[in-house]
Amino acid sequence: MYEAPLIKPARDYDEAVRALSDKRRYRQWSAELKAAHSRKIAGRTSHLLRFQIFAGLAAAAFSLGWDLLVMPEHAEFAVLARLLTVVPLACTGLYLLSRRNLQWAKAMVGASIVCLGMVAMHLASFGGEALMTRYVMATSFLLGIACLALPFSPAELRKFALAFALGTGLAALWPNPLEPLIAATHIAFVVLIGGISVAVAQNYWEIDARGFLKDLREEATREALRHSNRLLQQLSERDPLTGSLNRRGFERVFDKLIVQVSAANADRLDKDKVSIGRASVMMIDLDHFKRFNDTHGHQAGDTCLTLVARALEDVVGKTQGFVARFGGEEFIAALRETQPGEALAIAEEVRVAVAELLVPLSGAGEASVRPPLVTTSVGIGLSDPITRAIDADEGRALREDLIEMADAALYSAKRAGRNRVEIVTWDEPLSRSA
Ligand code: GH3
Ligand code: MG
Ligand code: MG
Repeated sequence: MYEAPLIKPARDYDEAVRALSDKRRYRQWSAELKAAHSRKIAGRTSHLLRFQIFAGLAAAAFSLGWDLLVMPEHAEFAVLARLLTVVPLACTGLYLLSRRNLQWAKAMVGASIVCLGMVAMHLASFGGEALMTRYVMATSFLLGIACLALPFSPAELRKFALAFALGTGLAALWPNPLEPLIAATHIAFVVLIGGISVAVAQNYWEIDARGFLKDLREEATREALRHSNRLLQQLSERDPLTGSLNRRGFERVFDKLIVQVSAANADRLDKDKVSIGRASVMMIDLDHFKRFNDTHGHQAGDTCLTLVARALEDVVGKTQGFVARFGGEEFIAALRETQPGEALAIAEEVRVAVAELLVPLSGAGEASVRPPLVTTSVGIGLSDPITRAIDADEGRALREDLIEMADAALYSAKRAGRNRVEIVTWDEPLSRSA
């Protein structure tokens, strides 16, 4: 008995569906889910990081202009500090991006921004009160903008904000401390602006991550649908008793065997005037099967049909062809003859294979001479060589014609005494039918 395959659950997506229904936050996701998310956003992350690096370098250049304007006496430090820290870190980030090493590229970009903040705080310590305050404000804004713009995960963002606070805090206190009140203002601003921007960025991240889960769920639903459609098609084209193709399946596969193959070879057929072979259909009908049922029972008849189906598939499966159960005790096969006489030879093999399938265990004489329990008559319809591409309608017409011819041949095999093969060939070459 043919058993349909079970629908395979979309395992990869189970986790996403669970995360959605449990309303899990990003940090509660499994490592695999996080990895899938990172892979999904890798392209966007890389694009954003590259943009941030250029924006950061522009900010470094702009702030350098400001430094030179307000603190010309520290021009050397302002230039060198940027050239030795901010710029190389940013450039390393760009290089790592080109090597697709996102993790380290993020670290370099983060470090470059922290360095820019530290340079600013160090310069601030040489200014007057008003200048110090401006630098403190600017540094906090730098942190705020960076948190909102950098494509960092919440954990990465927290690490970055902490590193920025520690780095700029250190620069505010050492080696040249700021005014204590301004240093305290700096810490307050960094905590406030950093805290708010990290919270906002995390919120965006969660929304985005949820969108990713929904996409995954939809993809899983579509995949399950595609899978069940495939399964339905398989089931609708299968004969439940033998597991072979049924008549509907026969029609589709015949189309593949002839129409699609001729279309795929159209150029060659046209140019080189070759053929894809002759199309042939075989009607294979068990002889006196009613009697078999009456003698051995319907159950045995069913088993016999299944054995016959396997035997036919074994024989025809060696060729370009295929077998289907046409109905009742009748099978149908189609093949493309790749060499002359192939269809006839295969039909003969089919006849012998069925005759050898069930031999009486006892009776008069050697087993080899005892009459087989089941035999078959085969009628073949054979077309002329196909030398051009044929369309679906022509394919259908060809199929029906060949079935009719095979039927006529089968009828004549039955009349001639059964357990034999007859053939009807086509006198109208298909290449001339256009
Ligand atoms: P012929 O040589 O002329 O083909 O004789 P036949 O008895 O095979 O032909 P007929 O059309 O008279 O009978 C076909 C028999 O096939 C009748 C039916 O019981 C049997 N049959 C058809 N489908 C099944 C099936 O699914 N299982 C079983 N066990 N028998 C089937
Ligand atoms: Mg029959
Ligand atoms: Mg029949």
